[in-house]
Formats: sequence, structure tokens, C-alpha cells
Amino acid sequence: MERTFSMIKPEAVLGCVAGKIITRIEESGLKIIAQKMLRLSKEQAACFYAAHKDKAFFEELIENITAGPVIVQVLAGENAIEEYRRLMGAANPAAAEENTLRRLYGISIEKNAVHGSDCPETAAREISFFFNQLEIIK
Ligand code: ATP
Ligand code: MG
Repeated sequence: MERTFSMIKPEAVLGCVAGKIITRIEESGLKIIAQKMLRLSKEQAACFYAAHKDKAFFEELIENITAGPVIVQVLAGENAIEEYRRLMGAANPAAAEENTLRRLYGISIEKNAVHGSDCPETAAREISFFFNQLEIIK
């Protein structure tokens, strides 16, 4: 069993497709073992996306992720990191495979509906950024 971190981004929550995304996650076989909704401050968003701080799109990234509430989750399953990234599809919705979350619900590369951890180290960091042990189902 592996864990990954998932975020349903503001454009998806504000666009009222969060329920559809959650349904797709449930249907994929990944188990949702923690979930909550919150709105990030600019400071919290900059900390969460610290790895991207030197990128040209950093400011826009912070604007987008703080534009409304997000739903954050911990997902569990065999190869959960890879499985969830497969379900999400490529970062650019136009290049994402058919039937992936980003192809279905992403608006643009900047507003691509969902985020998922890219490796075990990132998953551990991102999960502990949002959740304490009491909030994660054993
Ligand atoms: P994520 O980390 O969100 O799962 P990813 O790993 O596919 O997506 P990253 O390269 O880590 O993509 O970029 C993080 C986020 O920054 C992307 O989800 C996207 O919203 C935004 N982003 C990535 N590349 C660009 C770009 N060229 N222009 C604008 N925004 C971008
Ligand atoms: Mg990434």
C-alpha cells in the first residue's frame, strides 16, 4: 500500500466538478483515507509550491491556487502515486489522454483541475503539510 496526496484545485471546486472528480477517484479503486476543504493563504501556497519558486509561472501559480477553496485528500492503494498521476493525465489538459481528470475537467495548463504528488518523498511532505496523524484513516 502506498499513499499519495491529491488536491482538487479552485477552478474545479468553483466550477462545481469536485464531486465528479471524487467519483472518478473512487471508481479508480484508490481509497480516500483523508479529505478536507480549505482555502490557502498566499504564504501557505508559496510554501506548498516552494519547489517552483524560481519558475516564470510561480506568481500565477500562487494566484490560481488561492483563488478559492481546494479539497485536499490522502489516497491509498497499490502504486497510488503512479495510479493517481495516470488518472490525472498530463499537466496540459490539451495534451492529456482522453478520459483523464485533466482532459475532462482542466481548463488550461495553469488551471488543470487537480494536483498529485510525483514521488514518495513529495507525497510524504505534501501529506504532512495538510494532515496530522489523527486525520488519516488507518
Ligand atoms: P502537479 O504538480 O500540479 O501535479 P505536474 O507535476 O504535472 O502537476 P508541475 O511541473 O509540477 O506539473 O507544475 C505544477 C503546476 O504548475 C501545474 O499543475 C500547473 O498548474 C502549473 N504549471 C506547470 N507548468 C506551467 C507552465 N508552463 N505555465 C503555467 N503554469 C504551469
Ligand atoms: Mg508537480
